Amino acid sequence: AGGCTFLIVANRLPVDRVTDATGKAAWRRSPGGLVTAIAPVLQRRHGAWLGWAGAADEDLKPFEDDGMHLIPVPLSAEEVQDYYEGFSNATLWPLYHDVVGEPVYERSFWEAYQRVNRRFAEMAAEVAAPGAVVWVQDYQLQLVPAMLRELRPDLRIGFFLHIPFPPMELFYRLPWRRQIVEGLLGADLVGFQRPGAASNFIRLCRRLLNLKYQGNQVFVDDRVVRAQAFPISVDFNELDEVVRRPQTWRRAAQIREELGNPQKILLGVDRLDYTKGIGQRLSAFGELLGSGDIAPGEAVFVQIATPSRERVEQYRLLRDEIELQVGRINGEHARLGAPPVHYLHTSYSRAELAALYCAADVMVVTPLRDGMNLVAKEYVSCRGDQQGALVLSEFAGAADELRQAFLVNPYDIDGLKKIMLEAMRANPAELAKRMRAMRRRVATYDVDRWAADFMDALESHDETSREGR
Ligand code: UDP
Repeated sequence: AGGCTFLIVANRLPVDRVTDATGKAAWRRSPGGLVTAIAPVLQRRHGAWLGWAGAADEDLKPFEDDGMHLIPVPLSAEEVQDYYEGFSNATLWPLYHDVVGEPVYERSFWEAYQRVNRRFAEMAAEVAAPGAVVWVQDYQLQLVPAMLRELRPDLRIGFFLHIPFPPMELFYRLPWRRQIVEGLLGADLVGFQRPGAASNFIRLCRRLLNLKYQGNQVFVDDRVVRAQAFPISVDFNELDEVVRRPQTWRRAAQIREELGNPQKILLGVDRLDYTKGIGQRLSAFGELLGSGDIAPGEAVFVQIATPSRERVEQYRLLRDEIELQVGRINGEHARLGAPPVHYLHTSYSRAELAALYCAADVMVVTPLRDGMNLVAKEYVSCRGDQQGALVLSEFAGAADELRQAFLVNPYDIDGLKKIMLEAMRANPAELAKRMRAMRRRVATYDVDRWAADFMDALESHDETSREGR
């Protein structure tokens, strides 16, 4: 056994390679919520992080960065294609998101997924100290808990799924459904975003594997596995602080100016992904313009679409579809120099996003299915002025907590139109009432709370499981 008493295992390391001013390669901490959430826990516990460095066919030695010990896992170009782009993103991603995209069931993808999961487990087994705590992250590594337990029964193993976990009826389609559930059951604690996902999992354990269960505990051989929801969140205080800076609001005012001072700014911020419901919200906005419910020049829609998974066919098709739709709406409704839809296929910095959130009168978050959706919680964190309306899909995990949002079924275009208008026309007192309640929730259940709750549950596992026997 190695010397690591606390180990994070994730598909990617928490750093990106950058080239500094002198042309030298360096590492920079990745943006993104997961890293922000876990890095402090790791630094406090002098832990290590095991993951892929992001470039294929590269064999890097372990290194230190930002107070973290980082252990790169090598992947070949073919493994990136089959394990990552294939099984993770073309099979599991659409299946777990309620099949809103068609999953590809390819045996060669599955082979690669097993092989890569085994490599992660073997490397983790090698560096973990006796009795160490190992926290495995997300859908790319669902076989790791069982593979690791077999090699190292002494470890305490947690697993967290960041994306949704589908109902049994959909999960049953997966040709390797048994192996995946057995893989997850190697953990002591399996965490999900929503209580419904945890129940889906427990139901599967019962129906597919005939296991006994009681409440949120499943009995496997002589062990107890707990399945429970831990809704992930954002760094509320950091965002709250960013928008206290005058330059954030100055930039927000400038953005409004640049957009031609419309009465209302509607905003969408998403990875360009078919789960995000971008087409549905654009349809609704286009119809409102067409019917005259939104007067010419009254409102603009800003859609930030961050490039994503461009090597996967479905994502290329989606991009064409959205861009055609934007072109049509602007073609029909733009006046010279004043298009109603501003579409940006690019990635924005945290600071610019914060200014956009402050400028947006209506934040439109309409995924067809989403594990959590951090954008919704970021918007709430940024609106210390107690203004702004959040239109939120019922099918985002965030809808469990943000009950005061303008909740909507994104498949219902008429409903979407109605709620978008309602959000645009709501009075300041109404908006403040809703925003205050949502801010209270996110301020209390922030990302530190998420990590702490998961770690507490994992480390108190023995006591709770004894009660259950
Ligand atoms: N984000 C960003 N720049 C962009 C667009 C998005 O930094 O141009 C960030 C955003 O602030 C959020 C994350 O990317 O923290 C997206 O997380 P979310 O849960 O909303 O969706 P996911 O992409 O994980 O499906």
